[in-house]
Amino acid sequence: MRLRIAVRGAVQGVGFRPFVYRLATGRGLAGWVLNSNQGVFIEVEGERGLLEDFLLSIERERPPRSFIQSLECSYLDPAGYSSFEIRESASEGEKLSLILPDIATCEECRREVLDPADRRYLHPFTNCTNCGPRFSIIRSLPYDRPNTTMAGFAMCGACQAEYHDPSDRRFHAQPNACPDCGPQLELWDASGARLASRHEALLAAAEAVRRGQTAAVKGLGGFHLVVDARNGQAVRRLRGLKRREEKPLALMFPSLEAVREECLVSDLEARLLGSPESPIVLLRRKGRPPFAGSEIAPEVAPDNPYLGAMLPYTPLHHLLVAQLRFPIIATSGNVSDEPICTDEREAVVRLGGMADVFLVHDRPIARHVDDSVARVLMGRELVVRRARGYAPLPVRVREDGPAVLAVGPHLKNTVAVSKGRNVFISQHIGDLETGPAFEAFRQVIDDLRGIYEHDAAAVACDVHPDYLSSRCAEQSGLPVQRVQHHYAHVVSCMAENELEGPVLGVSWDGTGYGPDGTVWGGEFLRATLDSFTRAAHLRTFRLPGAHAAVKEPRRAALGVLYELLGSEAFGLEDLAPVRAFPPGELRVIRGMLGRGVNSPVTSSAGRLFDAVAALAGLRQVNAFEGQAAMMLEFALQDVDTEERYPIDLRRGPGDAGPLILDWGPMMRAVLDNVRRGEPTGLVSARFHNGLVEAVLAVARAVGEEQVVLSGGCFQNAYLTEGAVGALRREGFRPYWHQRVPPNDGGISLGQAVAAMRALGGK
Ligand code: ZN
Ligand code: ZN
Ligand code: FE
Repeated sequence: MRLRIAVRGAVQGVGFRPFVYRLATGRGLAGWVLNSNQGVFIEVEGERGLLEDFLLSIERERPPRSFIQSLECSYLDPAGYSSFEIRESASEGEKLSLILPDIATCEECRREVLDPADRRYLHPFTNCTNCGPRFSIIRSLPYDRPNTTMAGFAMCGACQAEYHDPSDRRFHAQPNACPDCGPQLELWDASGARLASRHEALLAAAEAVRRGQTAAVKGLGGFHLVVDARNGQAVRRLRGLKRREEKPLALMFPSLEAVREECLVSDLEARLLGSPESPIVLLRRKGRPPFAGSEIAPEVAPDNPYLGAMLPYTPLHHLLVAQLRFPIIATSGNVSDEPICTDEREAVVRLGGMADVFLVHDRPIARHVDDSVARVLMGRELVVRRARGYAPLPVRVREDGPAVLAVGPHLKNTVAVSKGRNVFISQHIGDLETGPAFEAFRQVIDDLRGIYEHDAAAVACDVHPDYLSSRCAEQSGLPVQRVQHHYAHVVSCMAENELEGPVLGVSWDGTGYGPDGTVWGGEFLRATLDSFTRAAHLRTFRLPGAHAAVKEPRRAALGVLYELLGSEAFGLEDLAPVRAFPPGELRVIRGMLGRGVNSPVTSSAGRLFDAVAALAGLRQVNAFEGQAAMMLEFALQDVDTEERYPIDLRRGPGDAGPLILDWGPMMRAVLDNVRRGEPTGLVSARFHNGLVEAVLAVARAVGEEQVVLSGGCFQNAYLTEGAVGALRREGFRPYWHQRVPPNDGGISLGQAVAAMRALGGK
């Protein structure tokens, strides 16, 4: 394999390239290292295990005066290097100022903040050239203090001396500050009246949390709501007020050791937790449900074998957890799906009633940046929510193209702008379902275009006629390039893996508008960067209640049963989803399906997961998006079987058009197994294994060597690992996501790249 790494930070002029050379040649790896105005780029090629070891060693053994502010890596196909070389520095034609993401507090700054002898003792806004806020404070380029939200703070003499001293760690550190000249904390009550200031404020906030209260804490890219994660009552109260019934809440642990008390942490996961990006990492919990030995309240992540864990990433968080020394909930400060709150006055209004106290400060947040979420899948990082620490770093594509603005999908929205070979993807925005979310969407577009002085030649959007984002594109007055949702998934994964195609794109998710007017979601597309054809799809069924079916897996189950058995389906009262409807509602659904009213035809793989989860009795109504499918995946943990349900691949009507993957035999087997009371874990494993076999069957029929896996379904680790393994065993080359989410957060990248090609005259 080939591993590409982009290192940004204090890595120039500190012996970094010779260091990389030694690391690589010492392991017998071929490739090169190169210095450019965008950072140090490395490519190494060799055995997988050696590459992983190389990656971990870069951070562990880096030269003493170097510092890594961001390290992005991707695994790619080998290029066939024969030796390792230090390449000449590239002076690229395009001189591009990159905006760095926010960088987690470095070890030196952390030590200073906790050292009573240091002049920055207890200063929550400590930072240096190597760490601290960037994207969340920059108002415009170039990145100089007057262009940041630190503009209003004049540096004191001591700070200025550091700032101008080339030998100091704070030489040209734009947000440099100390207790004398920097931002200050205040503690407010629920009405916004000041209760305390400076360190007293932090102590009082900590005391409130210790007593079981909720503190709204103004952090880096927005507010967190903080409660004691061990206190079930406090967590329940927060859930009620935030209107978030069961969706797992993110945890901040005081240390890596504390994380290890609760979770299994591999070397790569430990690296990720402590990285400059410092995302929330999804980690497998120790022990088994109900996790009796755990300190974490069950309400934090009900019925979930994973926890979302992060470490403190600003001095403020370090100081807070140093007081508390127990894990806290640190969930975004918002009501259900609205954008995260960034302004303290607004917070008092919007989060009023949720928080007992507000720990605020006077450094404005230039733009909202949520915490990122990542997991390790097959020894690689997989980002599932891309925001703090990652945005707005670009994905580089192979060819120059016109400047495009991509407005993204409707759910889990991000937007993207392309400039030359770079595609800048915005931070996670969210579902464009509410007024405030749509407002945030427009702001992020203006912001991204403003900061990069982006002159769009065209706008890319979804083919759905009614999406607000698509209407926005129409109203822009620019040429509009429409990109089909599942094709955008495939292109985003191709772009990330530097593929040109043709590939077989397996694009599985919940919902996307198909050009034939049906709802797509279980698609196999033969694709290049220029076009696609639909090679195969899952057998279709009707979704009674359309949007309501997304929240109610029992509806998907009835749709599937109706497709399979006709009206007989409604009498099957031995089945959980049938029983789950009040009789009146069942009649309504029967009417909808019988007449084909308000029940769109779909090939959605996500809804098939829902149907099986409902039939297995796991979940009839979702408390949050994707819950049933998640529970189905969790059910097979620790089940070890290669048994699988059968699934038929057949020709379409008249032997023309796409192949049809018929799940009929599979669903009959599910019904049989459920009725016989087989363990849910086994049903789930056989279902997953059947789908893996189905991917393989289509791959064989289509015959493309490169197979790209994208769409929200491929957040499912068992499905992704199974498909990758099976495809490899048969000589295919599978690709999946790394730095860009497989879910709809990656759509804007796919839209941008497809539009760049379409308009680039290729
Ligand atoms: Zn630092
Ligand atoms: Zn100062
Ligand atoms: Fe999607």
